[in-house]
Amino acid sequence: MAGLPFDDRDGFIWINGEIVPWREAKTHVLCHGLHYASSVFEGERMYDGKIFKSREHSERLIKSADILGMKIPLSVDEIEIIKQNVIKANNLTSAYIRAFAWRGGEQMGVSAKLTKIHVGVAAWEWGTYFDPEKRDKGITLKTSPWHRPAPDCAPTQSKAAGLYMICTMSKHAMEDAGFDDALMLDYRGYIAEASAANFFAVKDGKLLTPTPDCFLNGITRQTVIALAKDLDIEVEERHLKPEELASFDEIFVTGTAAEVTAVGQIDAHQYTVGPVTKMLREAYETLVRS
Ligand code: PMP
Repeated sequence: MAGLPFDDRDGFIWINGEIVPWREAKTHVLCHGLHYASSVFEGERMYDGKIFKSREHSERLIKSADILGMKIPLSVDEIEIIKQNVIKANNLTSAYIRAFAWRGGEQMGVSAKLTKIHVGVAAWEWGTYFDPEKRDKGITLKTSPWHRPAPDCAPTQSKAAGLYMICTMSKHAMEDAGFDDALMLDYRGYIAEASAANFFAVKDGKLLTPTPDCFLNGITRQTVIALAKDLDIEVEERHLKPEELASFDEIFVTGTAAEVTAVGQIDAHQYTVGPVTKMLREAYETLVRS
C-alpha cells in the first residue's frame, strides 16, 4: 500500500454511522474542520489482531474533542465497536487505526456552535514510522525554530489537528536539512518532544523525560515509564534543557506510530543505541503483542 494516495485506495471506512467504500468517505469542502482546524484525531496500532490500549485511545479522542468544545456523538463503547467493525471490513490483523472527528459545514466563520460533529474511522496496514534501517544506528533530529506553545496559547492536551501545523513545518525543514525529524523545544526553551513522538534521555542509567505540561502525555510515553519502573530503572520527569543534550548517554522517542525509536544524533551530538533503549524497546515490542 505504501505510496498509494490516501483518498484512492481499496477498502472501507466508517463515516457518520455507516461503513462505505474507501473512495466514497468524503466531506464537503466548506466544512469548519478544514477551514478553522476544528478537528481531532487518534492514531492507534493493532498487533496480531489486538489494538494496543484501544479504550485509552477512544477515551482520549472524546477528551480531545471536549477540550475544543466538540461533543462527539458516540460513547467509548460505541467507538470500540466501530473500530472492530472497520478492522473486520478491511480484513486486517496488523494495522494503524485512525479515528477522527471534525466540525461540519453548517456554519462558516469562527463561531461554530451550530455545526454538527462528524466522525470517521479508517484503518490500514502501516509498517514502521521511521526507516527500519535506522534501528541499529538511531534516527537523526535537529532542533526546530518552532516552539511548542504555552498551555494558555493553545489546547496543548488535545490531540487537535491545529497543533500539528508547526510540527509539519518543523519536520519539513529538518528533512530538507537532511535529518529524519525535528526536536521541538517548548515556549520556555525546554526540550519538549519530536514532531509526533515523546522524548526520553538516559543519563547514568536513569531515565529522564520532560514533564508533559505543554504537550501530549502520550500513551506510549506512559507505557514506557511503567515498563521502566517494572525493570527497576529509575525514572525522573523534569524540565530538560537543550544545554544538557551533550551530557545524555542515550536518547529515544516514543509514540504509537514511532513505537520506541532510538535517536543517534541531535544537531551535532552523537548517541549510540544503548542498553536502556534496547531493553525498553524490547519490553515494549513484547508488551504490544502479548
Ligand atoms: N506527541 C505528539 C505531537 C504526537 O503526535 C504523538 C503521537 N500521537 C505523541 C506525542 C505520542 O502519543 P502516543 O504515544 O499516545 O501515540
